[in-house]
Amino acid sequence: MKELQLQMDAFRKSNTPVVKNGFMIVKYNQLVDWSRGNSVWPLSFGLACCGVELMHFIASRYDFDRFGFALRASPRQADVMIVAGTLCNKMAPALRACYDMMAEPKYVVSMGSCANGGGYYHYAYSVVRGCDRIVPVDLYIPGCPPNAEALMYGMIQLQNKIQGCEYMQVKIPSGYGDD
Ligand code: SF4
Repeated sequence: MKELQLQMDAFRKSNTPVVKNGFMIVKYNQLVDWSRGNSVWPLSFGLACCGVELMHFIASRYDFDRFGFALRASPRQADVMIVAGTLCNKMAPALRACYDMMAEPKYVVSMGSCANGGGYYHYAYSVVRGCDRIVPVDLYIPGCPPNAEALMYGMIQLQNKIQGCEYMQVKIPSGYGDD
């Protein structure tokens, strides 16, 4: 019991999970955010050449499954949309429809110059000058194309954001977990 009390004190001081003697002391919100951050399911959705780098990240060399990512073919099962490529005006309504079908909480990663701001096709009549005109973007990855390593770094940043974001925290009934 005394050991447990010491663990509680250590946790209060550091506010980071304490693991000792087979017990872990962690806030419920931290646990939920950690689980969410490590089970990010992106929608399989590629629009242009950036989509090939997305495939590269998925494939065996980088093997994005080991980070907890799992591609889903249905927006209803996905919580992250990676906008990988040039977004045309014709495609924009479909992109928005997919976003609307995704369950909350959901995130959008804008991958590459085209998705970020139109890129080479910024002045083309048919291209949307940034996917953030259609969907709210949480993270921008620069480059044309960003390579698989850049995407991997960006997705790890998204995991960090999910794990540290107040918005993600679950409302806990008052009195729960009070000493
Ligand atoms: S940013 Fe470059 S690589 Fe990516 S879709 Fe646009 S033109 Fe292609």
